[in-house]
This record gives sequence, C-alpha cells and structure tokens, in this order.
Amino acid sequence: MDNVFYRNLRKSYPEVDYGKGIYLYDKEGKKYIDACSGSAVANLGHGHPRVIKAMTEQAEKVAFTHLSRWTSGPVKELADLVAHLAPGSLNKLYLVSGGSEATESALKMARQYYLERDGKSSKYRIISRWQSFHGNTIGALSMTGDKRRKKYSPLLLNFPHVAPAYCYRCSFDKDQETCSVECALDLERAIKLEGADTIAAFIAEPVVGAACGALVPHKDYFKIIRQICDHYDILFIADEVMTGFGRTGSMFAIEEWGVVPDLICVAKGMSAGYSPLGGVIAKDEIYEVFKNGSGSFVHGHTYGGNPLSAAVAVAVVKTILEDNLVENSRNVGEYLLTQLQEKLLPFWYVGDVRGKGLMQGVEIVKNKDTKEPFPASLNIAEKLTVTLMDFGVIVYPGNGMADGENGDQFLLAPPLIMTRAEADELVERMEGGFREFEKRISQ
Ligand code: PLP
Repeated sequence: MDNVFYRNLRKSYPEVDYGKGIYLYDKEGKKYIDACSGSAVANLGHGHPRVIKAMTEQAEKVAFTHLSRWTSGPVKELADLVAHLAPGSLNKLYLVSGGSEATESALKMARQYYLERDGKSSKYRIISRWQSFHGNTIGALSMTGDKRRKKYSPLLLNFPHVAPAYCYRCSFDKDQETCSVECALDLERAIKLEGADTIAAFIAEPVVGAACGALVPHKDYFKIIRQICDHYDILFIADEVMTGFGRTGSMFAIEEWGVVPDLICVAKGMSAGYSPLGGVIAKDEIYEVFKNGSGSFVHGHTYGGNPLSAAVAVAVVKTILEDNLVENSRNVGEYLLTQLQEKLLPFWYVGDVRGKGLMQGVEIVKNKDTKEPFPASLNIAEKLTVTLMDFGVIVYPGNGMADGENGDQFLLAPPLIMTRAEADELVERMEGGFREFEKRISQ
C-alpha cells in the first residue's frame, strides 16, 4: 500500500535509490542522465562532497533559527556573496524557501514599495506574459501564463498578461528579418490600457523555462522593457528562479541583455537542491524606501533564512565560482545546442530546438511547415518524456500553449558540471529515444 498523494495519480513513478554527478539510479539499478537537474535545480549534480560537508558541519552547529529573532554567519555570508554577484545596486537579499515564495514576496514587496514611497495603495497589479511560469501558489499563479492557470480560475487577482517573446510562434507574425520587437512594446500598450497608476511591476523570466521550453527573447527586448518600466514608474522584476546562478551561461541571465532589474527572484540553483531555499534580491534604493518608511516588510515564511540552507547555498555558490561553472554552462551549452539541433531537427516532428547556456528547449509539432501542434488530448510531450526515460534520459515536460490550447515542448537543463563527453552521451541517448518515439507515434 502506497500512501503518497502523487501529482499524477494514474502514473507509476520509478523509485530513486541514489545519485552521483549527472546520473540518477533507481531501485532496480537502472542509470539515468538527469538532463533537467530535477527541474533546473541540481546544478552541481548529485552527491557533491563539498556541499555535503558544509551541510553536515552546519547541521552539527545549528540547523534552524527563525529570521524574526536571529541572523547567522551563513545568512550574512550568503547575502554578501549575492550582493557581490548581482548586477548594479541589487545588494539586499530577502530569504524564503522556494521559487513561488520568492515571486509572492516580490509581488508584495512591489506593492508595499509604492505604499511606503507615495502612500499609494492603488499600484497593486503586476503585469506578466503569456507562456510564463512564476509558481503554483495563487498569487504566483495569477502572474503565471501557462495552462496550469486553467483549473484554478478565476484567480484571486486581476493581473494583465502581455505577448510572450516566443520567436518560433511570433504573436505579430514577424520573423528574424522583419522583427521590430513588437512583443516588448506590447507592455506599453497594456500599461496604457490598464492605467500606470494601477500597476506596481512587470515580471518576466529572462529565458522562459517550465512553461514553454527555453524561450530566448530578441537582443533588444529587455532594454525596451526597462525603458517602458522607467517611463511609467513601474518596477521590473526578473524571475531568475530557474535561470539564476549560471544556468544560461551568465551568473544572472538578465545580464546578457545589459539591463539591471529592480528585483530579482532566485531559488533553485542557489542551493542546488541540497536544501530548499529561495530569495528576492532588492536594489539598495528599494531597501532604503522600506527602511525610511515603516521600517518593516510585512512578510515572512517559517524556513526563510535558516542557517542550514544558507550554509548549503554558500558552499554551492563558492563551488560555482571556483569551478568556473558559469563558463562551463556557456561552453558546454553552446556545444550541446549545436549537437541537439544537428541530431534532432531532422525528425519530422521536431519543430524547434533553442536555448542559451545549459538551458535548452525542444518543441514538437504535428506539421513542421505549418507549425501545427498536436492536439493536447494526445499528451505528446509527456509520452515523449516517458520514451526518453526508457532510454535513460530525464527531461522536463513543458506546460505551454502554442495556440492557446495545444502545444508540446520540453526542457533540458542538465547539471552545470556536465562535460562535453557527457553531452555526447546525452545526445546519443536522445537520438535513440527520438527514433523509438517516431515508431510509436506512427503506429
Ligand atoms: N519561477 C520560475 C521561473 C520557475 O521556473 C519556478 C519553478 O519552476 C517557480 C517560479 C516556482 O518555484 P517553486 O517550484 O520552487 O515554487
């Protein structure tokens, strides 16, 4: 009798035994490449000795104290490290225990910022994009723009959504040559329509992950976004829960667009799955408004800033720096993307292979010429990921909506420690899986 309340109640899950490096082993002894690091979390791979040592030492000292009463050495050290690494004046780290808590916190921070600064509570809404994911709690889901919203509508908050930066399926029917970054200008349209005095912030993932398989915007996209936000006095929140700490080949993905946001949400890669942790990095100027205003942020989650998770994160971030994993992500990522494009694009059902650093997406289509998606009822992305598991590869199925209803993408986000030889092994196994899948869908 199994008493676990599973996410998918009709599926049988393999039971994990242990992990080492980029590999996971199930109870039957089968070996898998963890090609999505869980969900872009286990960025140092599994069983990393340095992190295990830091964890054990901190657990022996003190594992938990509450942020409302205590600070600790690891929390202060982590905040210093993050302040040093984050761009511009993003120097203040507010700790929580995961990604949804981070985006919820940023939402409240943006609202309270205007209240503290101008005494205004009218700026309460957040604009986000379709084909995005910002978390599963109701506030975060109100900002999310993928099909996970559907079952829980009406959502608590009336938050507007704008066009995604989805170049493969441009909402404005443009291609690379004709593009004038209309998707960025869509933000201005929405602000004018809704009224800037009702909007606290715009939130976006620099590279979209879970919703739609690694959507990389045009090189001018975030510059335009930054200008619009400044013009209308709206905060820009970069949701780097998935992309932060090296995933796309930069410490923070937004740096690739040469833009400094007002708040950055982080989680996953910061503690690399060894202990739950998330946070919001705020600009000094925002922190000062809180400090000179009411002097408190009316918020907090029980596990935020516990010394154990912070000690883990310190070890993780130092390992990323000392082992040059950001550079490795960029180099091996570029190589992997080229290999994947070469080997997978020839399949008749592969529409697009895209990404940045070690964050790549594959889009599956019914018709390559028209880009028509498979009907959602066929559950193609899920079936493909099951086939890939037979070939010892774990990927992360997407939740996007190519045409508002249907669409199949999945995400690859292997640990940042991946070598070129391991990338070759991954591509070889995937090619085998794709060949097998071709047979299965033709039957
Ligand atoms: N934001 C982004 C960009 C994410 O990718 C995720 C999770 O995939 C979240 C927020 C939510 O994080 P969590 O699952 O830790 O609540």
